[in-house]
Amino acid sequence: MSPTSVSQVQSADRARRANSSSDRADRTAVDSGQVKPLLGASLAELTEWVQQQGQPAYRGKQLYQWIYEKGVRSISEISVFPKQWREEAANVSIGRSKIHFRSVAPDATVKYLLKLADGQIIETVGIPTEKRLTVCVSAQVGCAMGCDFCATGKGGFKRNLAKHEIVDQILTVQQDFGRRVSHIVFMGMGEPLLNSDNVVAAVKCLNQDVGIGQRNITISTVGIRDRIRQLAEHQLQVTLAVSLHASNQRLREQLIPSARPYHLDELIAECREYVKSTGRRLSFEYVLLAGVNDLPEHAAELANHLRGFQCHVNLIPYNPIQEADYKRPNPHRIKAFVDVLNEKKIAVSVRYSRGLEADAACGQLRASQA
Ligand code: SAH
Ligand code: SF4
Repeated sequence: MSPTSVSQVQSADRARRANSSSDRADRTAVDSGQVKPLLGASLAELTEWVQQQGQPAYRGKQLYQWIYEKGVRSISEISVFPKQWREEAANVSIGRSKIHFRSVAPDATVKYLLKLADGQIIETVGIPTEKRLTVCVSAQVGCAMGCDFCATGKGGFKRNLAKHEIVDQILTVQQDFGRRVSHIVFMGMGEPLLNSDNVVAAVKCLNQDVGIGQRNITISTVGIRDRIRQLAEHQLQVTLAVSLHASNQRLREQLIPSARPYHLDELIAECREYVKSTGRRLSFEYVLLAGVNDLPEHAAELANHLRGFQCHVNLIPYNPIQEADYKRPNPHRIKAFVDVLNEKKIAVSVRYSRGLEADAACGQLRASQA
């Protein structure tokens, strides 16, 4: 939080104090479009803020711990704070969402629909294994890219998520599961590189304030011209996953209308540059659609594009969505595709998405139960 935003919070606080209804106060904070909630702020920023509220500096550390470790939703819950200040500051927005809907798939994957302060709904998925708890986070409400096989793409774009709305998704899953989140994948709703500033800010906060290693964070992008290059400038330690889905430009445009102005060759060149300048590995995602992009010829063509590239190809057998009538290839076709890539010495794995039964798998995310 910059000094400007601290004073924005302050003036909003004055507005809130003058307001007897907490509902109205919340709306004031959000609707003004100026006030940043406390979630997402660093220890230094929270310390500065408590001091501006007339409180001693050490309360900043307490506030920081209660927000990031205990996951409080209101200052009124912070029992170590003086009662009078808790009451006064009860309506200051921490910036937490509400769980609007929650469903558990038989494989224990949990899908959440989260309601944001302005009533928009986003999806978040918690994917547990014995050793890991991975959160699939959304970067936007909806998506403008319109990929033909993706439920989010079919629903259109509403808005970008703010930094705190991204961080909140991780805290929500962590609290609901009662265990620490170990990995994050930006593979929920939206295109992260069309919201780069907030995504990068959220990654830094998740790393420094929530304690998640950058190496355990993956950003998945459909590829936006120059945005991969710009991401490289931040020198983050995250893993980049690039959604290719096609072995030539014609096929790619058919599946991803937004790919028209950005040729596959240019995209792959930008990816090569990314690896060179960051030293980080990169993976390509490829949704397998029966009879569309899953033939051995496609695999050979893909291998040609990736020759000499230290990368990994993740094949994702298509997860069915209502709005499209693609089919998932059968296991023989999938194996034949893998075999061609193996022969051409391209590292490859097949990712069977979890959470299918709860409509929580890759590409199935939409705020349908809202
Ligand atoms: N917008 C980003 C990240 C969100 S989508 C991107 O496109 O990379 C996350 C992944 O899910 C992408 O690789 C996407 O292509 C894949 N996906 C979308 N719809 C799918 C579907 N119906 N079945 C399988 N994977 C899908
Ligand atoms: Fe957007 Fe990614 Fe879905 Fe394409 S696959 S519509 S880029 S969320």
